[in-house]
Amino acid sequence: MKFPKAAVILATGVASALAQTPAGTTALTPPETRLVAAIDANSAADRALLEQLVNINSGTMHLAGVIAVKDVLVPRFEALGFRVHWVPMEKVTARAGDLVAEHACPAGAGHCGKRLLLIGHMDTVFEPSSAFQRYAPVPDSAGQVATGPGVADMKGGLVIMLAALHAMEQAGALKNVEIRIVLSGDEERPGAPLEKARHDLIEAAKQSDVALEFEPGSRLFGQNPEGQDTVSIGRRSSIMWHIETSGLSGHSSQIFGEHFGYGAIYELTRILDAFRTQLPEGGLTYSVGLVLGGATAQMNAEQTGGEATGKDNVIPPAAIAYGDLRTLSNEQTARVEEKMRAIAARHLPKTGAKITFDDGYPAMTVTPAGRDLLREWSDASEALGLGPVVEAGPMTRGAGDISFVASYLPGLVGVGALGQGSHAEGETVFLDSLPSQAKRNAVLMERLSQQPSGR
Ligand SMILES: [Zn+2]
Repeated sequence: MKFPKAAVILATGVASALAQTPAGTTALTPPETRLVAAIDANSAADRALLEQLVNINSGTMHLAGVIAVKDVLVPRFEALGFRVHWVPMEKVTARAGDLVAEHACPAGAGHCGKRLLLIGHMDTVFEPSSAFQRYAPVPDSAGQVATGPGVADMKGGLVIMLAALHAMEQAGALKNVEIRIVLSGDEERPGAPLEKARHDLIEAAKQSDVALEFEPGSRLFGQNPEGQDTVSIGRRSSIMWHIETSGLSGHSSQIFGEHFGYGAIYELTRILDAFRTQLPEGGLTYSVGLVLGGATAQMNAEQTGGEATGKDNVIPPAAIAYGDLRTLSNEQTARVEEKMRAIAARHLPKTGAKITFDDGYPAMTVTPAGRDLLREWSDASEALGLGPVVEAGPMTRGAGDISFVASYLPGLVGVGALGQGSHAEGETVFLDSLPSQAKRNAVLMERLSQQPSGR
């Protein structure tokens, strides 16, 4: 018997919880019960690992910090039988690098059931300059909530991934599973070009059947005071657009006239207002983030501000704006971009406009295969006595790394820690979600490994 006594007692506790699960839900099998026991037995160590990881600053641009996180993770993956490969990216994209790990199927690729791809990131939005640096329990939460930079997004997810894999190893369920892991060091601020930055992830996806993205999920507090856990199967795209308009400069008294026309700022506002009134449709948003215009208009290199000059009595010859575009599908992206181009091309007299789109994140569209996976996740949760999990729709979150591989395979988004306030100082994690999400992941992975490979 591999488990210490405490684990056996905890496993019995789970068995009694199972008796209360609603009729019709499949109960846990003996190997699945062993996964639960292993996760419970290790939960104090998992919390300690979370604290350790959170207290290493790994803001995206703090490359040494991202590497320090990698150095904590590598021996843990190796101890579980993964072959780990560090891909430095500093010279390619000016970011830290990607951790790529592989657990091979002993019988040969594709002979261990569904081939799994686990996606995560080691960086956070909190750079060393941030005031938010340390892990701490949240007062008055009875030890149930903790705060810290990246505690949910997504160092909690890294701990959950390791906890699930460790339990599988302890329960003898990892031997015959084919798993690839790609942890990027630049999810929060991807390096360019994106196709190079996400190369490892895309290559791993081509060899996998199902993706699990360990980003944070949300717990809804509505009718159920305990909270309702959610997971997502779609993410919207995120693409940045830029508009530059031009016009003739002259005395403002002559604006709208045949000679000087309307100026660059009226042309820009015409376009933006046409976007507002003519583009709305389901699942689509587009926000204008920054506008500059006048005699001169210049955006800074970081695209976070700029400079403009002008006078009330001079028709402005230059204006720029930029914003984002978020869609449910790549078809929607193409169609809306086409409409935006057409609007931009209907110039006011004596003006010009140019609109360009950056290659951003594609959309991860909700698919039937994604729905099946969501059902399996929720079934695993019910069998664990944790209740059903509901879908958090694509409008509830931003874009993410899984979007780059969504055209290759179905996946779940938000199988990591459940918390609140990601990307803001004071971000929190519900600590009970570390074992509960680890159990859902371990049981789902075990079940997927029993299903034939192929999509
Ligand atoms: Zn994240």
